[in-house]
Amino acid sequence: MSVINRGSLTARDRVGIQDFVLLDAYTSETAFMDNLRKRFNENLIYTYIGTLLVSVNPYKELGIYTKKQMDIYMGVNFFELPPHIFALADNVYRTMISETNNHFILISGESGAGKTEASKKVLQFYAVCCPSTRLLDNVRDRLLLSNPVLEAFGNAKTLKNDNSSRFGKYMDIQFDHQGAAVGGHILSYLLEKSRVVHQNHGERNFHIFYQLVEGGEDELLRWLGLERNCQKYRYLIQGECAKVSSINDKSDWKTVQKALTIIEFSEKDIEHLFAIIASVLHLGNVHFEASAHGYATLNSSAELLGIPSNILQEGLTHRKIEAKAEEVLSPFTAEHAKYARDALAKAIYGRTFTWLVNKINESLVNKDSTRKTVIGLLDIYGFEVFDVNSFEQFCINFCNEKLQQLFIQLTLKSEQEEYEMEGIEWEPVPYFNNKIICDLVEEKHRGIISILDEECLRPGEATDFTFLEKLEEKMCGHPHFVTHKLADQKTRKTLERGDFRLLHYAGEVTYSVVGFIDKNNDLLYRNIKEVRSFATVCILSWPDITEKIIDINSKIVATQFKSSLAGLTEILMTKDPWYVRCLKPNHCKQPDRFDDVMVRHQVKYLGLMEHLRVRRAGFAYRRRYEIFLKRYKALCPDTWPHWKGTPAEGVQRLIKHLGYKPDEYKMGRTKIFIRHPRTLFATEDAFEICK
Ligand code: ADP
Ligand code: MG
Repeated sequence: MSVINRGSLTARDRVGIQDFVLLDAYTSETAFMDNLRKRFNENLIYTYIGTLLVSVNPYKELGIYTKKQMDIYMGVNFFELPPHIFALADNVYRTMISETNNHFILISGESGAGKTEASKKVLQFYAVCCPSTRLLDNVRDRLLLSNPVLEAFGNAKTLKNDNSSRFGKYMDIQFDHQGAAVGGHILSYLLEKSRVVHQNHGERNFHIFYQLVEGGEDELLRWLGLERNCQKYRYLIQGECAKVSSINDKSDWKTVQKALTIIEFSEKDIEHLFAIIASVLHLGNVHFEASAHGYATLNSSAELLGIPSNILQEGLTHRKIEAKAEEVLSPFTAEHAKYARDALAKAIYGRTFTWLVNKINESLVNKDSTRKTVIGLLDIYGFEVFDVNSFEQFCINFCNEKLQQLFIQLTLKSEQEEYEMEGIEWEPVPYFNNKIICDLVEEKHRGIISILDEECLRPGEATDFTFLEKLEEKMCGHPHFVTHKLADQKTRKTLERGDFRLLHYAGEVTYSVVGFIDKNNDLLYRNIKEVRSFATVCILSWPDITEKIIDINSKIVATQFKSSLAGLTEILMTKDPWYVRCLKPNHCKQPDRFDDVMVRHQVKYLGLMEHLRVRRAGFAYRRRYEIFLKRYKALCPDTWPHWKGTPAEGVQRLIKHLGYKPDEYKMGRTKIFIRHPRTLFATEDAFEICK
């Protein structure tokens, strides 16, 4: 396989170029799209921009992730085989080993573009290809099996993706000095808890609920007081799509069970875990209208949680008021009671998820204290736009802004640093910096999150609409912020009064303010908290630091999320970045459909053209002297078969012989930099002939 498909023009015409950097018309978006489409039509879903990997979701099995494929890619130079996620994984791994430093792979793209699949492929590659001892086999298995467990509890069917991750995930894989995977650690970000109690049409609750009801053993269901029928549970059917053709809840249940055992959850833990899941389902069926019937299911829930049922009932239906050193119980309206019920369900589930992540982390801890190197894998929710967008989308899209910001800083920074390190001058490329949007959202005292927090601190007075008014007052004139009031005539027609619109780097998103205050507060009524303190199920009595913070009212959901993202950025900044950019070829989850407009839009907002330009601005191509010499030494009698001097001298001799003009290349400290791809094409052609 030739490096750049120059061997035969016909082949190149058919399958396109495997590295955009080598595209002749590299500034043309049309040429970029043509190349991408051509390759997609040939089932070639991967293409490089230098070391960045572009991937287009094929929505079909391509048979390219087999053990045989892994073997092919293991230990082979990056550019010598067709682009592949395994090639990237292998390159990162070998760089880590040879340079003993830390790396991370940032996988981005919109919902359904293939991020989670890509991260799984990377993990599988390491699990199979890294050396191991029997002792470590179980770490490897646990690393792999943490996936189905977290997906069961943290993923759900949405309109965009049947297996959509509803939490962000950063996973460190730790390697010892021999390159064996010896441990790991997972950080999770902002689980979409509201899904527990509400799903939009065509969407589901988290997979685990359906898995339990469909797959749970008869005896287990009996013990949990559950019927084998999703239609019986309010929390499972609001989206009216409990069954999904692409999902087999029964067999997924088995997978999760097996995974839980291997990760060494005790029988007791597993018992408690499913008691909690079932208690949430029962809770969802509690209703507060006149009849006593609604409370039967409340009793089941209380029993599973180990809470006396009168306490739970009182907690859900009354507010405790302290008056003159006396406690008075004042009854809730049915509306309030429902709210309290849902808040409890969300809190219970959220707590359980955190416990689960912690438990998995305990099983991945490496007790040996020798120095380790790390590869971090970041698979975080993609940019999301629905017909109605709420607080969750606001947080998710803000997260994507921050990651884009990091990408901009790191790619430009690393490019500049490389030229500097190699002693080469270069001219920076202009690019769209989305910092202005990040600031709009997160700036202290002035950003949207600060304003939201301020409003949340005025209980009783503030509403979603006073929040919107404040935004209008403070953001008036901001180029990336529009509301009905602030819009021009034309835009106004498309905006409701309760909406605000942000012009994200990835496109416009209109958010409905309804629910922002509530969701940001995420408060439990005080007596509901007391209720929970009665619970005998250990998962719930496990201390949660974040909750204490909420108690003193100093940090609220969006702000917490903001600081956890800042923490993530810090973690990433100390590591060397690698990127996988996932593209979604169509809105219908269908194979062999490449929607030009849609893909073009993603290419634009992911900044791929700019990245390409940056890669090309100075020098399109760079190779370490040893590697360049090894590949092409046969083209010059002085360097063939053996070159006695330094690799740099060898390369100098070689390119002199090939007739490189002085302005075509530069010699750095460790690498040769080649300005135009055509120079390399010519060399590559000569190489093909000489073979
Ligand atoms: P994201 O995490 O970006 O939201 P996923 O990784 O969950 O998206 O991918 C969505 C779906 O697309 C998967 O469930 C799978 O059906 C399909 N898919 C994604 N990547 C691939 C791939 N490389 N090969 C085959 N199918 C894929
Ligand atoms: Mg995902």
